Amino acid sequence: MTEPLFTDDEEYERPKMAAHGPVRVRVPAKINLHLQVGPLRRDGFHELTTVYHAIALYDEVTARRGDTLTLTMEGEGAGVLPLDDDNLILRAARMLAKQTGHDPLARLHLRKQIPVAGGLAGGSADAAATLVALDQLWGTGVGRDELAELAAALGSDVPFLVLGGTALGTGRGERVSPVLAHGSALHWVVAVADGGLSTPEVYAELDRLRAAGRADDPASAGPERLLAALRQRDPDVVGAALANDMQSAALSLRPELGDTIEAGMDAGAIAGIVSGSGPTCVFLAQDSRHAAGIAEDLRGRELCRDVTVAHGPVAGARAQ
Ligand code: ATP
Repeated sequence: MTEPLFTDDEEYERPKMAAHGPVRVRVPAKINLHLQVGPLRRDGFHELTTVYHAIALYDEVTARRGDTLTLTMEGEGAGVLPLDDDNLILRAARMLAKQTGHDPLARLHLRKQIPVAGGLAGGSADAAATLVALDQLWGTGVGRDELAELAAALGSDVPFLVLGGTALGTGRGERVSPVLAHGSALHWVVAVADGGLSTPEVYAELDRLRAAGRADDPASAGPERLLAALRQRDPDVVGAALANDMQSAALSLRPELGDTIEAGMDAGAIAGIVSGSGPTCVFLAQDSRHAAGIAEDLRGRELCRDVTVAHGPVAGARAQ
């Protein structure tokens, strides 16, 4: 069922020596083309089956040599996001240092475009970028499997953001395997809402809706239909197979997202869906021109804080 995502020369190249100059790593946002939320596990996580898809909306983490561990930032979330050990970037840096016996010394800078708490896994993306950047800056020599384990310990979405592309995620989302070869770009319109949604609160709302028999579980049939649709490379077929079990909970907490989805469909999108836990909504278009037209229409309706276009799949966290 699965085909390799990267050809050998495209795979994440493990650095062999420490870098002297700055290491700049670009990392994409993710959307979920299919998100099936299973039962709550004993460890407090829900069992997930998801099809992740990396889109061309990027954060960038730059790592430089330094005498202490510091983090600065610009862009989305500046002035609001913590720059202390609550930030996933510093958590990733300390974890990699501890695991590899390196002193946690670096000057890190984040340029952030991925909206915070938007359902696009921006925090996880930054953690993935940090692991890749510091692995290279420090020349840690950790293997690919060890890096994947560290990524999974930082967050369920982090391993996917190291990998990128389109991938099937299982477990709590941390076990990923590529499902698509290059060459079948999908074109998306990304509608960013005002304010964020807390992922734990959306899960709690889903549990409540399910207990009351009011949840809509469109992904309960599993990802096979979506995976088959991706193989056909026809956006209409892919659009019909998009499914997100978290959408009803996100809409219950933020009913105005229903207006956004309706507006995107009115503007001619093939399909519209809440991204992950929301509140960002994404719309599938036929091609890049179609996406630009939908984006312009949506901007004119002034329902969203920001509307942008992004294609996928793209590679995961990579040094530039
Ligand atoms: P997910 O879908 O993976 O739950 P999300 O896209 O909804 O993620 P994120 O932007 O990843 O949300 O961030 C969720 C919370 O994580 C934020 O509210 C913030 O307090 C915290 N956080 C810590 N570090 C970061 C970071 N580098 N970027 C964004 N958020 C961060």
